[in-house]
Amino acid sequence: MPRNVTFPLKAYNRMKKRDFHPESLMMSYGYKPELSEGALKCPIFQTSTFVFKSAEEGKSFFEVAYMHREKRPQEEVGLIYSRLNNPDLEILEDRLTLWDKAEDCAVFESGMSAISTVLLEFLNPGDLLLYSSPVYGGTHHFIHHVLTKFGINILCFTADQSKDEIIELIECSGLSNNLAMIYIETPANPTNSLIDIESSKSIAVELSNENKEILVAVDNTFMGPLWQHPLQLGADIVLYSATKYIGGHSDVIAGACMGSKEIIARIKTLRTFLGNMAGPWTGWLLMRSLETLKPRMELQAANAARVATYLIQHLLIEKVYYLGFITEENPAQYNIYKKQYESAGAMISFDIIGGEKEAFTFLNNLKLIKLAVSLGSTESLAEHPASMTHVDISPDERKVHSISEKLIRLSIGVENVDDLIWDIEQALAEVKMG
Ligand SMILES: *Cc1c(COP(=O)(O)O)cnc(C)c1O
Repeated sequence: MPRNVTFPLKAYNRMKKRDFHPESLMMSYGYKPELSEGALKCPIFQTSTFVFKSAEEGKSFFEVAYMHREKRPQEEVGLIYSRLNNPDLEILEDRLTLWDKAEDCAVFESGMSAISTVLLEFLNPGDLLLYSSPVYGGTHHFIHHVLTKFGINILCFTADQSKDEIIELIECSGLSNNLAMIYIETPANPTNSLIDIESSKSIAVELSNENKEILVAVDNTFMGPLWQHPLQLGADIVLYSATKYIGGHSDVIAGACMGSKEIIARIKTLRTFLGNMAGPWTGWLLMRSLETLKPRMELQAANAARVATYLIQHLLIEKVYYLGFITEENPAQYNIYKKQYESAGAMISFDIIGGEKEAFTFLNNLKLIKLAVSLGSTESLAEHPASMTHVDISPDERKVHSISEKLIRLSIGVENVDDLIWDIEQALAEVKMG
């Protein structure tokens, strides 16, 4: 404080302001200890229902919850019943918005419930859904086997198609007036090919009109919430399997969805009636995980960079799919990488020389890295996409996306990186010996 100013210290302190970074706020944001007996940490509100102070209060809470009247300024949504709201979920949702600078967030009991609820809320019979291929297996199944049952038309595009080619594809379908949503997953799993979010948004804007706004939804599980911020690039909805980095300890299944207040209000309403919200225990676990989100993800990315550098020089390895290896020789992918990502992430896939036999020998001989699907966790995981995560995709489609018998996918964790490289080296030595 300037010395010559006579100013009450308390008033000066109140004026001091700083916008703290998300990682500084993950331990406290949105939680008031005075409402919970002074407990430093948010308790687990393991309760199905909440007591109203009076019948009038109960009436007023319901009016807001069912949108029979607007919320008054400063009025908070009252706690009613844990299918509608619960403090562990509300505080978690507030914290999650900070990373993506979203207005609001809804959390779910799984990534798939977040994805399916968004698709069901914003698509109607006759609509066209355009989606990037490949998408997560569960999403692919939901789009192909559930949405089509409700008369929703589907069309896919791939990372190597330009904006003009995608628009032509939509027009050739004869359904360009019915386009309602563009759904993107980038980087694509397991080959890390990139889709341009801004360009997808510009397609949505070009094909929207005053009666209809085409929404862009992005599954940001692979790079979020730290390394890619789809809402800042024009997306309307960002989706997460919070099972992955956000949860990050392979001990909970959860999902999240973020966007504007209006969009999330619609999603939360459908969530209330599908009943697929996360429970208080899941909310509490995710809050605990969020405290270490940034250091975990940064260490995972640093470890992945070392592992990728090791893999690319190995004689038994043919090709490495890693964002850090995209070069200007591939200008389209390179430009998206530079514009959209703040890190090369912690997912690496590679082609081993040979086929399924060599891939399986490698996987069966790992000693530290676990042979399991899933990703984004503290422990490193390895799997064989062609026979595991991507087995449901037709052989032709697998070929298009380079998902061959020799492809192995790694999710790098927080272990000592020299131990990880030692493990990969010794498992590759077993492959060499046949
Ligand atoms: C795991 C995953 C999902 C599904 O999430 P669940 O939490 O398993 O329901 C969706 N998208 C991507 C990219 C994923 O990796």
